[in-house]
Amino acid sequence: MRLRNNKNFSEMYITKANFKRIIREIDVPQNYKFEDLILWKAPDGKEYKGDWKSNKSNVFTAIFSQWEKNHLLAFKAFCKGDTSLLKYIYNHIEKPTDSLRYIRAEKSPVYHSDINCPAMKSDYERIAIPEQIIKQGRDAVLDFRRYWNEQSDLREKDMSAFVASVNLIFSPNPPILGCDFESTTIPNSGIQNIKDNRSVMEINDEIACIWMGFVNWIKEDRKKRLNICLEFGYLSGMGNSDKTIDRKLPNGMTEEELKRILVVIETYKKQIYNQLQELYMRQYIPDLNVDDSLLKSLGFEPCYICAMHGGGL
Ligand SMILES: [Zn+2]
Repeated sequence: MRLRNNKNFSEMYITKANFKRIIREIDVPQNYKFEDLILWKAPDGKEYKGDWKSNKSNVFTAIFSQWEKNHLLAFKAFCKGDTSLLKYIYNHIEKPTDSLRYIRAEKSPVYHSDINCPAMKSDYERIAIPEQIIKQGRDAVLDFRRYWNEQSDLREKDMSAFVASVNLIFSPNPPILGCDFESTTIPNSGIQNIKDNRSVMEINDEIACIWMGFVNWIKEDRKKRLNICLEFGYLSGMGNSDKTIDRKLPNGMTEEELKRILVVIETYKKQIYNQLQELYMRQYIPDLNVDDSLLKSLGFEPCYICAMHGGGL
């Protein structure tokens, strides 16, 4: 993700995931007036708007909740360089608290001054600290992290010797086995961003294709499904939830049956939602006007790898 502040400064980059995170933190006020209300202009020229006054008999508009529509419009505005909504961020992106569960403590989001920064592209591995150590408390966790880092040579050469030394020093109960070090690889959204080279037209075609699929699915049982899309579509997230739908159900329909339909709506909606975000980014970046001081005020920190290489900070 390329963020340009102004022409006197260097360009800043953040990952797509962090970009989306900024928008998620915005609490759009009820009466906020977006300049650009168009969620999507279909290849056939039809425009779908996202304000609450928009036609409620339109399925495309009806399946999104007002929260979702506001966030799509905010996302689009931000991509176009409008940062006025950022004052409604309800949470400064908090420095994450250290859960004391992983070898590496959770970090604040960072921005990069170098597009080739390895931290933008590499997935990172999250290694869990064994429960037996966590149970011993904060000091044990901090000691364990230190020991883990100091003994990197031993770990690489002979993991079982490392494990034996941990058992000797930390006396975990029961003793630790090599397989107790669970690791998960967290994919870095920076990679996707670089790989995703689709044009605006291709993304538009993909949205049209998903949309057509959805329309055809409605047509298979038009009377029932169209009504549910219009009346309950915005609640589609509840399809997978245990919560009761606190509304009068359609005639002759059980809640279970309704939820099964909502799950399908949610699947299509999520795909359209994600592709719309891709579309806005592709359409308006790289002319996005966000400077590093704004990123700092939101809780981002400059990437230390970029700084070490003198990446224009
Ligand atoms: Zn970097």
